[in-house]
Amino acid sequence: MKTDIIRIDPENIDAAAMERAAGYIRKKELVAFPTETVYGLGGDAMDTGASKRIYSAKGRPSDNPLIIHIAQTESLYDIGTDIPEAAFDLAGAFWPGPMTLIIKKKAGVPYETTGGLDTVAVRLPSHPIARELIKKSGCFIAAPSANTSGRPSPTKASHVIEDMDGRIACIIDGGTVEIGLESTIIDLTEDIPTILRPGAITLAQVKSVTGEARMDPGLVKEDETTRPKAPGMRYRHYAPRGELTIVEGERQAVISRIQKLCEESKNAGHRTAVISSTESAKNYEGYRVFDIGALSHEEEIAHNLYDILRKLDEEDIEQIYSESFDTPNVGTAIMNRLLKAAGHRLIRV
Ligand code: AMP
Ligand code: MG
Repeated sequence: MKTDIIRIDPENIDAAAMERAAGYIRKKELVAFPTETVYGLGGDAMDTGASKRIYSAKGRPSDNPLIIHIAQTESLYDIGTDIPEAAFDLAGAFWPGPMTLIIKKKAGVPYETTGGLDTVAVRLPSHPIARELIKKSGCFIAAPSANTSGRPSPTKASHVIEDMDGRIACIIDGGTVEIGLESTIIDLTEDIPTILRPGAITLAQVKSVTGEARMDPGLVKEDETTRPKAPGMRYRHYAPRGELTIVEGERQAVISRIQKLCEESKNAGHRTAVISSTESAKNYEGYRVFDIGALSHEEEIAHNLYDILRKLDEEDIEQIYSESFDTPNVGTAIMNRLLKAAGHRLIRV
């Protein structure tokens, strides 16, 4: 399949270009498009054929449900049933934005879209291209991240092209995304609002609206008995081919340990790299250093993480040592992804 790559400036959306992209959605074809979190791989959410095409383009297991993107809060009534008041309170506070709500699904939503579940994930994105695509197509758009299953989510059009060129009808190149980590997923189908996947909207922010809220116990402690509730959080994800180890502890001790580990790895003949905060980067001179951003600007770290994970593979790095980035707000989400990428290999010093 020849993929139609359409460049659209999010600040000055060309109506004809957008119409061309929306036409593919109406024809039940797939369009990758930017959102404020990561790039999505979109198809008509109410069409079983389009949903099946999404799973097949990504190589995604069929029990891992998709997120339905809408352009106005009222669309919740077309997708969900028994919607709790908390959904509208949270929507009022954080939509449009990086928050996904899990509610009971309406009969018309195909099981192909929900991975066989009776619940459904819904998000109202803020990115102007995403919103315009939903409106122009006249469809609700099911869109998981636009990566091949198992790879880091795409934060730039070039990442999407790497994974999806030739496999889907269209890619909208709308530049680099803003946040760089997937949305916060909040389950509203149990007694207490529960975060199934941490993201840019934090537990404290959710609590400020709903009063009570908690983290999915399966996220806090991952073992055979407590599994994450979001199917997607159970799969191996984001992992670079090289062996990634996180070193955590007091700053100077972390630096010393990483220097030592790098020295050993280099002596063993391995291609070695460090993922460092801007504040510490100068301590690793002589090694390949990926400066992920400043601890004092935690959004930078979230923004750069997936691009660095892809670059590690491009450079065939074999051993990677990363500092820990447990920053005050988005740190929970960053460390959730980084720990998965490291297969939970963590050294405490
Ligand atoms: P992605 O957009 O690729 O990040 O994938 C969507 C994420 O939402 C996956 O982790 C899914 O498991 C999760 N998800 C979607 N629908 C549901 C649902 N009904 N219940 C729990 N998790 C869901
Ligand atoms: Mg994904």
